[in-house]
Amino acid sequence: MSSKPESHVWHPYTQMQTAPQPLKVTHGKGTKLYLEDGRVLLDAISSWWVTVHGHAHPHVAEAIARQANTLEQVIFAGFTHPEAERLADRLVGHLPTGLDKVFFSDDGSTAVEVALKMAWQYWNNKGVTRNRILAFEGAYHGDTFGAMSASARSIFTKAFGPLMFDVQHLPSLSEDPEGSLETLKKALKGGDVAGLIVEPLVQGAGGMLMHSPEHLDMVTSLCQSEGVPVIFDEVMTGFYRTGRLFAMNHCQHKPDIVCLAKGLTGGFLPLSITVARSHIYDAFLSQDRGKMLFHGHSFTANPIGCAAANASLDLFESPELPAKIMAITQWLGQLAISLRHTGKVKNIRQTGTILAFDLPSSETGYLSTAAVQVRDRLFSKGILIRPLGEVVYLLPPYCVEREEMQTIYEELLAAIQDL
Ligand SMILES: *Cc1c(COP(=O)(O)O)cnc(C)c1O
Repeated sequence: MSSKPESHVWHPYTQMQTAPQPLKVTHGKGTKLYLEDGRVLLDAISSWWVTVHGHAHPHVAEAIARQANTLEQVIFAGFTHPEAERLADRLVGHLPTGLDKVFFSDDGSTAVEVALKMAWQYWNNKGVTRNRILAFEGAYHGDTFGAMSASARSIFTKAFGPLMFDVQHLPSLSEDPEGSLETLKKALKGGDVAGLIVEPLVQGAGGMLMHSPEHLDMVTSLCQSEGVPVIFDEVMTGFYRTGRLFAMNHCQHKPDIVCLAKGLTGGFLPLSITVARSHIYDAFLSQDRGKMLFHGHSFTANPIGCAAANASLDLFESPELPAKIMAITQWLGQLAISLRHTGKVKNIRQTGTILAFDLPSSETGYLSTAAVQVRDRLFSKGILIRPLGEVVYLLPPYCVEREEMQTIYEELLAAIQDL
């Protein structure tokens, strides 16, 4: 029986019987979330990694209101609209040369589904049978069945085991890069690999596990030398999380397919994009309708979502942003040094505006106690974090102010010292 008979809402990743009452948020502004009971929270995780410019940014909010009064939605087969065209043109301008065919969908998971379908049907359309998808241990690509299949097997996918398709998971690039590359070489020799999907530089939900651009470059070039499409799932790493606009900007070898979502609309609306290179796209061109890409959603390229994404891109293009990203990166770097001095945390790691570390406690697994203690302590000080098991991380919105950085710095260190 539910402990909250008064609510009709079923929450994600939540054991409804034991979870405490959800906190009611009435409004947000910048880094702040305002609760109904008067408390204020500093959102140090950008609300599940999406709110890159902070909450209720007026520039995006106004663009949404304008678009809602102009064209709220239109069927996207046989029709197009200015905001989608403009967004596609602008994004392609920011992506490495050759990544220039933009397919719209609704969220990170569906962007991944589309990418997997593109890689798979690419071979089908060429009349070649290739049945093996490669991914990595520790990966997270979303919650729909294709995205779950590509993700590492975990408590999150366990109940659905028999329904998922086979994916070969290579050893993690952060823990065993040599083993990973060796396994990849062997897999490619089979001649049956249809595509490889990877979260570039940082595996997010798997625990903010980081690897080097050099190792990723080797993966990409090995695949591409065999003509195997490489998919970068930049759903989390995109839009300056790694310090540069995209994680692939750190790499020499660029992917064939890219997935973008979370920060795309500045975290305002669900919208995602899968970008493909021309040689992928060209394999779908035919007089035969059976060779078109079989995918679409009711809300594909929703005009309000596209308007939000265009407004968000305005903010990403602002000349002040790189300095802000640099300031956040340096602050987290300082914090990393201080954390190291406490001697109480392990595996301190940073990529751009993401800082993560492990807080091992006797109890390992998803419900780790030390991390929960730190979370609760910070919460009582008005700071929102959400550890992944024993992994504590910061992933702040880019509007975070100097004093706020200082507050997080002091409170986090104090919480760790008092463990
Ligand atoms: C969050 C995430 C997804 C899934 O995106 P949703 O919008 O939650 O469906 C996919 N890949 C990565 C790397 C993510 O971090």
